[in-house]
Amino acid sequence: MTIPDIIIAVDGFSSTGKSTFAKLVASEFSFLYLDSGAMYRGVTLAGLEAGAIAGGSIDEDALLPVMAPLDLHFRNVEGATKLFLGERCIESEIRGWEVSQYVSPVSAIPQVRAWVDEKLHKFSEGGRVIMDGRDIGTTVFPNAELKIFMTADEAVRAQRRYDELVLKGEKTTLEEVAANLKDRDYRDSHRETSPLRQAADAYVLDNTHMTLHEEVVWMLGLLQGKFGLLESPGLKC
Ligand code: C5P
Repeated sequence: MTIPDIIIAVDGFSSTGKSTFAKLVASEFSFLYLDSGAMYRGVTLAGLEAGAIAGGSIDEDALLPVMAPLDLHFRNVEGATKLFLGERCIESEIRGWEVSQYVSPVSAIPQVRAWVDEKLHKFSEGGRVIMDGRDIGTTVFPNAELKIFMTADEAVRAQRRYDELVLKGEKTTLEEVAANLKDRDYRDSHRETSPLRQAADAYVLDNTHMTLHEEVVWMLGLLQGKFGLLESPGLKC
C-alpha cells in the first residue's frame, strides 16, 4: 500500500521544529512541502522594505497596497523549497530578527490572512502537500486527511532557535529569543482571526526529547496505522 495524495497539516507553537519535520516527511514520502509562515514573513519583509512597518508600528493602510501585487511564491532550488519575491530569493532574509519581531502582529491582520490563505490554496491545487503553520488544520485545510500538532518544552525551543540565529551570525541573547517566542505564542493563540489551536482530530507530537529520526519513525507509524503497511518503508534519514 502507498500513501494516497492527501493533505497533511502540521501546526504548533513557534520553534517546535515544524518546518524541519515537514521537510523531512515531504522528502521521505514524496510530498510537496509548503511553509505558510514563510508567506507571512514575506509580507512582513516587503512591508519593512516599503516603510509601511517601521519604528515599532505597522501602518495597515500603507501595508495592504504594498501586499496586494506581491509576487510571493515558492520554488524548488536543488531539492529545497525556497520563498521568492519575483526573481529574488528571500528565504534567508525572512528568517532575520527584524522580521521575527513584526511577523505576528502582521499575521493578525485579517486581510493579510485572507491574502495568504488564497495563495496557499492556489499553491496546493496539485494535492499531495504537507503544509506547516498555526491554523492549517483548523482554518486553511480543516478537512486535511492528517493533522499533526507539534509542541516542545519552552526552554528547549528557545535554545534551538537561539542556536540557529547565532549560526546565522545574528546578535541576540537567549533571553531575547525566549521572550520573542513567548510573545509570538501568546499573540498567535489570542488573536481574533484563526488563532493557533490544536484541531480536535490532530495527533500531538511532543518532540522535547526526540531526535529528528525518531520523529520520522513516529510519522511512519502513524501513516502505517492509517493507510496500512507502506511499500518500501525504508527511511532515508
Ligand atoms: O512558522 P513561522 O515561525 O515562520 O511563522 C512566523 C509567524 O507567522 C508566526 O509567529 C505566526 O505569527 C504567523 N503564522 C500564522 N499562521 C500560519 C503560519 C504562521 O499566523 N499558518
